[in-house]
Amino acid sequence: MAYDSSQIDAFKNVWVFCEQRQGKMMPTTFELISEGRKLADELGCNLYGILLGDDVDDLASELGGYGADGVYVYNSPLLKNYTTDGYTKVISEAVQEFRPEVMLFGASNIGRDLAPRCAARLHTGLCADCTHLDIDLDGYINFLRSGSSLDVDNMKFDTKLFDVNTNLKMTRPAFGGHLMATIVCPRFRPAMATVRPGVMQKRPYDEAGAANVEIMHPDFELVAADIETEVLDIVKAAKKMVDLIGADVIVSVGRGIAKDVEGGIALATELAELLGGVVGSSRACVDAGWISADHQVGQTGKTVHPRIYVALGISGAIQHKAGMQDSECIIAINKNETAPIFEIADYGITGDLFKVVPLLIDSIKAA
Ligand code: FAD
Repeated sequence: MAYDSSQIDAFKNVWVFCEQRQGKMMPTTFELISEGRKLADELGCNLYGILLGDDVDDLASELGGYGADGVYVYNSPLLKNYTTDGYTKVISEAVQEFRPEVMLFGASNIGRDLAPRCAARLHTGLCADCTHLDIDLDGYINFLRSGSSLDVDNMKFDTKLFDVNTNLKMTRPAFGGHLMATIVCPRFRPAMATVRPGVMQKRPYDEAGAANVEIMHPDFELVAADIETEVLDIVKAAKKMVDLIGADVIVSVGRGIAKDVEGGIALATELAELLGGVVGSSRACVDAGWISADHQVGQTGKTVHPRIYVALGISGAIQHKAGMQDSECIIAINKNETAPIFEIADYGITGDLFKVVPLLIDSIKAA
């Protein structure tokens, strides 16, 4: 059957683009595979990864450990490094051949570049930067309930059995983070989404799943002439990027450090080191050039859920809270007792951070 993205019944299964760089799987891939497993279970279908690279079979079995039923692996020296045109060609042709109903990408630099290209080529929609995914089964369940004696509440669904549409519900912040928009793509498939790193929970690794994952090598054609970009060199960042997403403790600075930026960052760094954590920041500090963008927490920065999040001189704007409000324990220090950060703080100290933080540091050292 000729490919037609509006023939939604012809599409089945959930796919995840498995992003690897220099033969190393990106952590977001495991989060997406875990989330994809939940969606596939709700839809009653399989979950497959699609993995591109050069000689990357070894990476595929690990994906089974997080819930993938199988992995389509495309190996070629031309796919060793990411190129927009090479990856778009292989993925969009694979989708046309196998027709997944749902396709997820990480909202990494590569995912943000690749997913819209693929969506445009496949004539479907894309919801970018999602923070929550769900399957809209309501219409389907009502259909099954109507006039039947099926025990719907205890059924495992195969949504392709009946001619009732189910949709991926894709939720993302909108209007500068002031509201959350839930978006569906009802008339085209695959339903495509990029998902923010760090928001989906990784499942515990399962050895049996890793042992049983099916690894497939479909035929494909890719020649040098298909790729108009040439990667000459990969230059590592001169400075080590801070790992906010994996951190257990984050001490973040905000505009409240303005009167002594260097001193404020030094205090945050000392406190973070004592607690075994790293330094984060609000966007105000990044915009002011006080700290690099990899430290930014929030809607346009990283989404984090550490065990302890300390906010120093941060007001708690909605866009900042969007990235840290799921932290296990939030400690806020702010000289304004009405600052919104106190609404979500587990512990709040009203005071000047330049006075409070040295006291905290001293008492931790003395303990
Ligand atoms: P302010 O709001 O200026 O707050 C400074 C706080 O410091 C105040 O509460 C003040 O009482 C306190 N203070 C001052 N001096 C001291 C002191 N000596 N001791 C203790 N407290 C003191 N922001 C983000 O953080 N992350 C994002 O990802 C992000 N994305 C955005 C996306 C969009 C589309 C938009 C429109 C905005 C975004 N913002 C983001 C910006 C956000 O709206 C706020 O402007 C920003 O978070 C404010 O940073 P702040 O809390 O450091 O500064």
